Amino acid sequence: MAMDPAQLQRAAKDHLWMHFTRHSSYADADVPVIVRGEGPYIYDSNGKRYLDALAGLFVSQLGHGRTELAEAAAKQAQELAFMPLWSYAHPPAIELAERVAGYAPGNLNRVFFTSGGGEAVETAWKLAKNYFKLIGKPMKHKVLSRTIAYHGTTQGALSITGLPLLKQQFEPLVPSTFRVPNTNYYRAEEHGAPKGLSLEEFGRWAADQVAVQIENEGPDTVAAVFMEPVQNAGGCFPPPPGYFQRVREICDEYDVLMVSDEVICAFGRLGHMFGAERYGYEPDMITCAKGITSGYAPLGAMIASDKLMEPFLHQTQWKSSAHIEPGTRAEHGAGAMFAHGYTFGGHPVSTAVALANLDIFENEKVLDNVRGNQDAFRATLERLTDLPIVGDVRGDGYFYGIELVKDKATKETFTDEECERLLYGFVSKQLYAEGLYCRADDRGDPVVQISPPLICTQEHFDEIEHILRIVLDKAGTLL
Ligand code: PMP
Repeated sequence: MAMDPAQLQRAAKDHLWMHFTRHSSYADADVPVIVRGEGPYIYDSNGKRYLDALAGLFVSQLGHGRTELAEAAAKQAQELAFMPLWSYAHPPAIELAERVAGYAPGNLNRVFFTSGGGEAVETAWKLAKNYFKLIGKPMKHKVLSRTIAYHGTTQGALSITGLPLLKQQFEPLVPSTFRVPNTNYYRAEEHGAPKGLSLEEFGRWAADQVAVQIENEGPDTVAAVFMEPVQNAGGCFPPPPGYFQRVREICDEYDVLMVSDEVICAFGRLGHMFGAERYGYEPDMITCAKGITSGYAPLGAMIASDKLMEPFLHQTQWKSSAHIEPGTRAEHGAGAMFAHGYTFGGHPVSTAVALANLDIFENEKVLDNVRGNQDAFRATLERLTDLPIVGDVRGDGYFYGIELVKDKATKETFTDEECERLLYGFVSKQLYAEGLYCRADDRGDPVVQISPPLICTQEHFDEIEHILRIVLDKAGTLL
């Protein structure tokens, strides 16, 4: 028997350990319990409707309640519920690998499935290390990533994450990761950029810091650089023109692998299948998850270039290499193996759902919807810049951050106490009360994150703007 709302409350408080959640804040308040969804809307256990302006967690590209996706899951579960990809394969994983490789840029033709984004990031780092060992550059193992960037919570991915407050409770983490500046142009000078740079000059400066850091660490020790096409944490930092082209040049110069972490940005969020395509660069690896199934089943993937798989295909070519241990199976020509995997990586139900999801992307021209409406979405959100508390509206596609400031002229931000009072004490709660599900975030400077399902149109943009205006206007008076 399904629980009624009161039973759900009690059981949630007594037993459910929620993620990234301050449980103390629910001591005297209800846990929000969402029971169903339809299109871009979700409904709580009391029947109240909310616009899902975060697509769950940058996931629900097609919105909720698509029966085709539920049916694809049921059909596959009936046909073959489970088979791992450990030396065996199954049709939905094979078909999806081919399909995703077809969408991916350049020579990114090899797809390694995981159960989510953090695992894809782990996989990419491990592959980078393994690849360099196999090609005779065994010292290359370090990773660069950008300040305030989020790349996941498993110990390797958390080590790559550039958010000290998320890491400190878990130190020591995996060693050998280093930060470079992100592309926050709004606060460029505060974060070390020279004064008075144009956007292009700032992009060049920020990209060049990758070379500086590689030199600092020693090029022979650096394996990879991880970057999102548009960095989420900190509130949506798009790349300045030319930024990724310069990073690519630097990676080529130092033989460092470029990993595009597209856990959020892939599958239409920026109007393209991949963010790398949106900004015209070709990484060595892409990590993705979330939107690949629109959330109807969990799935992630690491997509690698042919070059990276090469040493795992032709053992004899690598046999004489000094790093192959005498007496091991590799020495006897059994073939190098990427000794890495997840039981649920590439699960049959998830990969079948992903195929059905991508069918809908094509049949309903979902990318065209984003590309056709993105300017209107931006213009609608930019109306909010008339509010004194709105410092900056930035992003791309259907992916935006609205930075809140205490003083627009000086860009002065809030103290920790004000942030607590304003962002969590008021903005967050009030947006939800007004019927907007989104996220107030202060991992960098305080922002409201907006990332609606890709099926949204002007009526939804207006609804988002309307509720944000009511709440942010009021917030401005509470300072
Ligand atoms: N990388 C990026 C850029 C992400 O945004 C996230 C999750 N938000 C992750 C990695 C980790 O993904 P997951 O939560 O699926 O492990």
